[in-house]
Amino acid sequence: MSFDYDLFVIGGGSGGVRAARVAAGEAGAKVALAEMDRYGGTCVIRGCVPKKLMVFASEFAGLPDEARAYGWDVSLGAFSWDRFRGHLDAELDRLEGIYRRLLANSGVTTFDARARLRDAHTVELSTGEVFTAKHILIATGGRPVRPDIPNAHLGIVSDDIFHLPVLPKSVLIVGGGYIACEFACILHGLGVQVTQFYRGAQILRGFDDEARGLVAEAMLERGIALHLGTNILEMTSADAAPQAGGMGADARDRGGLLPAGEAGKPVWVRDTRGHEGVYDAVLFATGRDPNTADMGLEEIGVGLGRRGEIVVNEYSQTGVPSVYAIGDVTDRVNLTPVAIREAMAFVETVFRANPTPVDHDLIPSAVFTQPELGTIGLTEEQAREREPIEVYCTSFRPMRTAFAGRPDRVLMKLVVSQATRRVLGCHIVAPGAGEMIQLAGIAVKMGATKEDFDRTVAVHPTMSEEIVTMRQPVRHA
Ligand code: NDP
Repeated sequence: MSFDYDLFVIGGGSGGVRAARVAAGEAGAKVALAEMDRYGGTCVIRGCVPKKLMVFASEFAGLPDEARAYGWDVSLGAFSWDRFRGHLDAELDRLEGIYRRLLANSGVTTFDARARLRDAHTVELSTGEVFTAKHILIATGGRPVRPDIPNAHLGIVSDDIFHLPVLPKSVLIVGGGYIACEFACILHGLGVQVTQFYRGAQILRGFDDEARGLVAEAMLERGIALHLGTNILEMTSADAAPQAGGMGADARDRGGLLPAGEAGKPVWVRDTRGHEGVYDAVLFATGRDPNTADMGLEEIGVGLGRRGEIVVNEYSQTGVPSVYAIGDVTDRVNLTPVAIREAMAFVETVFRANPTPVDHDLIPSAVFTQPELGTIGLTEEQAREREPIEVYCTSFRPMRTAFAGRPDRVLMKLVVSQATRRVLGCHIVAPGAGEMIQLAGIAVKMGATKEDFDRTVAVHPTMSEEIVTMRQPVRHA
């Protein structure tokens, strides 16, 4: 049977673009790709890249204080959201252009259209066009979800932040994951009054307890009003808020005035502690769902999980042999570099006859809070459930900010197997922890022992030298 294409990719994000261009450019396949929005996907257009640029923008807020301690006569001027956003938009246009060119230069045919599956080898586009392909790869990613509560539509999600016409004066962020904590720090740095509600006992569930604790402490110390064990009970537009006692603590703090609310209508919130408040914006960072709706998947036998994720095997193959899926739509490890790995393994498996499972073990990652949290491997809590461990840990005030009189603390932690001496986990809370964990991650992935770390001479004076100079365990567990 002959097909229009060897491969039809649905979704032009990090995973889809990588698979398409390597299959076409390096493996010589005839490839098409359909994308209904902008090329580059979540990472480039509404995730990692614009988020990191906002992190950079927000970090300048603390610099004048520090600079003055170092003898500079500087003060902080005003932040222009307009100027930043203009520059950001131009940068995202540039990056999208690069993605489009990469595809074109690899010989991939692209369609700016929504795609759905008609059968195991047929894709139909929103333009009405229909194509057949020997293989179909779904890389449609995910999208932020609002909780299922009345008036949730009054809140915004992370995608909306980059398009706000003006920065809100105050924001309530709901959630305690990566996105909630990163935007709490970013928006606080940009001068927004930030309140954060997390329903559990501590933010960043799944990360090492000590590391989560230090990040939470630092966020509170900087002035983020983080409320644990707290959620929204009810919300409505501030105009419609109950009048009697309806003006909450936050509004009273502003002399009883409701905010101007240029970024959208102010929202009145009553929380589970019984407190009320009015916020210029409510940001839901309450998780992301896979994009699998109305794609014809279940109709042709592609299995979906409880949250709508596509169920795949270790080769990213679905229950329908010609259909594969990679990236966030499979809800395995939802990180750009993982989607790219999955794309490369897919091409290797399908177009180079070299079945390559995806290695999801020991993936380093970073949360870009201030300070950052870098992590690889097991947390202390996970490791001690599995085997006897030693914990090496130090927390201290780093030279740079201590000199400026700031209370900031950093944390360096190694979780070590008593039996094999291998470093099972490394957790760093510090400015630049994302950069540090990338390098520590190589050693941990190679199976380095505590003694291998110890044999490495310290780079002095740095914060990360502590990772090779911790001699005594702080505890056995
Ligand atoms: P997460 O799943 O990490 O966090 C969702 C948060 O929302 C959790 O704290 C969760 O609480 C809370 N939550 C869920 N439902 C409700 C509800 N109904 N009411 C109140 N709170 C609720 O999702 P994110 O959206 O933060 O991030 C999605 C994924 O994107 C991450 O897991 C990560 O893989 C990726 N990402 C990676 C980044 C990086 O590498 N730096 C940056 C941003 C995103 P609970 O803990 O109780 O479930």
